[in-house]
Amino acid sequence: MRRVGADVIVVGAGVLGRSTAFELASRAPELRVVLSGRRGAGASEAAGAMLGALGEVTAAALATRHGRLRVELALEAAGRWPTWRRRVREAVVRPRGDGYGTGTFVLLNAVGSVLDERSFAAIGRAGREFGVPVEEIEPGQVPGLRPLDNDRALRALHLPAEAFLDARRWLGCLDAALEALPNVTRVPSAAVRADGTRYVLSTRGGQFAAPTLVVAAGAWTRPLVEAVDPGLTLMPVAAAEGTAVSVTAPMPLPSVLRTPNRAYACGLHAVPQADGAWYIGATAAPTLEPGDAPHLGGVRFLLDAALGQLHHGLATARLRRIHHGNRPIGLDGHPLLGVTSRPGLWVATGTHRDGLHASPLIAQELATEILDGTASAWLTPWRPQRAPISDWTVQDAVAEAAAHHRALAAEARMRPPLTGAWPQTLADGYHQQLAAAYTQLPDGFVLPPELAPLAYEHGAALAKTINSYQQGRAGS
Ligand SMILES: Cc1cc2nc3c(=O)[nH]c(=O)nc-3n(C[C@H](O)[C@H](O)[C@H](O)COP(=O)(O)OP(=O)(O)OC[C@H]3O[C@@H](n4cnc5c(N)ncnc54)[C@H](O)[C@@H]3O)c2cc1C
Repeated sequence: MRRVGADVIVVGAGVLGRSTAFELASRAPELRVVLSGRRGAGASEAAGAMLGALGEVTAAALATRHGRLRVELALEAAGRWPTWRRRVREAVVRPRGDGYGTGTFVLLNAVGSVLDERSFAAIGRAGREFGVPVEEIEPGQVPGLRPLDNDRALRALHLPAEAFLDARRWLGCLDAALEALPNVTRVPSAAVRADGTRYVLSTRGGQFAAPTLVVAAGAWTRPLVEAVDPGLTLMPVAAAEGTAVSVTAPMPLPSVLRTPNRAYACGLHAVPQADGAWYIGATAAPTLEPGDAPHLGGVRFLLDAALGQLHHGLATARLRRIHHGNRPIGLDGHPLLGVTSRPGLWVATGTHRDGLHASPLIAQELATEILDGTASAWLTPWRPQRAPISDWTVQDAVAEAAAHHRALAAEARMRPPLTGAWPQTLADGYHQQLAAAYTQLPDGFVLPPELAPLAYEHGAALAKTINSYQQGRAGS
């Protein structure tokens, strides 16, 4: 089979793969970059995409060391977006509108929980601490908001600098920019393996061999890396399946409407799209293996929440598209970014709910590491073969996960019988169920609260995954 030399092979053409290929190839025109990708249930095609830094803040994030690092990373990424976007668009002859805009309204509404209240307060605190504008306004002044009375917003924050764009248009723009670069070759997904000091991608048309391989295959990353080098032990990558819809709404939406991040998900949100549609998202269901289609329960929950909490006029909106994707997330709740112990092998995944936003920063820092051989302070905390990051004790994780359960029940309008000890019994029941599920997990690994359903829905498989990761680390 014909073998062609290359300098870097990037596997996975989600936003991280495409952005990294663009950064490498545009920064070093002599570099031959091969980007291998397939269509599928990747996260990027399904994303909002809120370019959220403050809007993503939760009380828990602000209170933990690595949570704060993520907030700082998001703020840094926000600062890079205008130049990054200009560079990518300048590479295209006639770029299409990408729906980019600024302005986000965060709503604290009557179906939120105490978690929402804490995160709403944390967003204000983060704004003051990091010097980003946040203004509290009357909910009645929020453009595009018309909730049911029962679900009305009680308070609202305006984040004028927080940006957004149309994820699918942005990916199209990246495609056009890559197409314009003569040193980028795009191929469909193909088997990849190590051959001495080279990485070989075997496509139908021939083989590509390069000394550097970047695996950015989202929730599918770990098996790919292990196929290349079975001796490498990566932080396991789970998936948070997400569903959203695009609708042609009877009224325009000038900015993002969102609740704080809540109950595993990224909060309820509406994002203006380049063609005037509303993108409405999003559900999140943690799972060990990526799923290929939305669950009906998720779609129902999402529509119910959006019509009640955001705009009841959406009842007459026309459904244009259902989006579904698997957000990759490291099993300790954090991304996997940077070099591995195998020379020339790099990983970029696990960005969970803000990978589109973080993509310029990750692409640029990764390219600097690859091209200059210098370690990036932004990526160092998130190395793919790290020991698990744990800012939680088991007790705190269980308590936080139980609070998420109560919040989800409240948003779903679950109402316990107001008799005897029912309300407290239910709350205690969540706590006991989670405590029992966490007890079944191997010692030395604290599952972050946003992945808690894995502990009782996939307990045995999860314990096996953690065990094999721990054994791999002990043996390396
Ligand atoms: C519903 C939803 C809403 C979201 N909203 C936002 C938001 O508002 N803001 C934000 O910043 N982020 C958001 N996210 C998160 C964001 O989409 C992700 O963090 C980000 O897109 C991850 O990008 P990625 O390139 O790592 O992974 P992916 O986009 O999953 O890309 C990985 C790609 O690799 C491909 N692949 C798999 N196996 C192979 C193989 N063997 N060879 C080649 N390719 C392979 C997959 O098919 C996929 O296309 C959202 C996600 C979802 C699902």
